[in-house]
Amino acid sequence: NEVFFSGIQPTGVPHIGNYFGFIKTWINHQNANPDGTKILSVVDLHAITTALPNASVMRDNIVKMTAGLLACGVDPAKTVLFQQSQVPEHAELCWILGSLQTITQLQRLPQYKDKSKKYSKGQVPLGLVSYPVLQSADVLLYKGTHVPVGEDQSQHMNLLADIAHVFNLRYGVDFFPIPKMVTSPAPRIKSLKDPNQKMSKSHPSEFSRLDIDNTNDELEAKIRRALSDTNPSITYDWETRPGVSNLISIYSAFTDKSPEEVVAESKGLDTLGFKKALIDTAIAHIAPIRTRFEQLCNDEGYIWQVLAEGSEKARAVAVDNLSQVKQVVGFK
Ligand code: ATP
Ligand code: MG
Repeated sequence: NEVFFSGIQPTGVPHIGNYFGFIKTWINHQNANPDGTKILSVVDLHAITTALPNASVMRDNIVKMTAGLLACGVDPAKTVLFQQSQVPEHAELCWILGSLQTITQLQRLPQYKDKSKKYSKGQVPLGLVSYPVLQSADVLLYKGTHVPVGEDQSQHMNLLADIAHVFNLRYGVDFFPIPKMVTSPAPRIKSLKDPNQKMSKSHPSEFSRLDIDNTNDELEAKIRRALSDTNPSITYDWETRPGVSNLISIYSAFTDKSPEEVVAESKGLDTLGFKKALIDTAIAHIAPIRTRFEQLCNDEGYIWQVLAEGSEKARAVAVDNLSQVKQVVGFK
């Protein structure tokens, strides 16, 4: 019995890294497997671990992320789409799993190292350290077997498999399935400004990413200003030309062509010519998503209703599984 579970943080509007790294994989699976269990969460409990937006911004981010997922093709009739904080069992299971995990191991994770950098010493919130434990609870609460996520989550997925294993071993049960990571064929999309960093919703610069709600003019301006180099021809080499290679890889994700095919097609184009082709492609793909996104954002009532219905369905499963966990642990 396959259970697909994944989550995305309401820290902004989805960008093309989220889209190619995760959302597209989800939608392909959703549409190809009408019968399997598919649970997708807008993980608002995670979103407050890196910033504490005020309440109206938080609500707005939840609406935008949900509208973004729907605009990309998540179908609430096929996917249980829900809001994490409305299912309190996530936090409860996180607490139980937290006792199976060491702080040292959590502090070694690359995402923790990266995200804790912005705090001065002694100021890192507990939530940021325990983030991957909550992430493990998210999946295990539904006895998830498959987790579609971007490649940047691979260390967290190892930790998740480890926690599931340690729990089973400690209590001598075969309770949690060991979840498998499902990655997309597209590589990790890098920031348009710094190819050493991945594209991120929470990066302060708008110009580092292409968002699914960007206007045609914004897409054009961002691609024009994307980092390239002084070599006028188009070649694919991450070592020496990371900026241009990222643009090639984005073009290749939009068109479903390999980077080699893209390079062959771009023979004779200089960097600006290639950027123009990328601008046209990005606009052709993003404009229809943006239109749906804007319509959905105008109907907030519908968005909250989708989340409420999804949360009710998710909660039914969560309550049952957590009750079993409590039995295993000896709480009842
Ligand atoms: P934040 O900066 O707030 O962490 P994010 O852009 O990293 O935002 P998440 O909500 O953390 O987005 O992750 C949602 C999903 O998108 C995850 O499956 C993650 O692996 C995937 N993802 C995020 N960024 C990229 C990227 N640049 N390339 C490919 N996949 C990505
Ligand atoms: Mg992230």
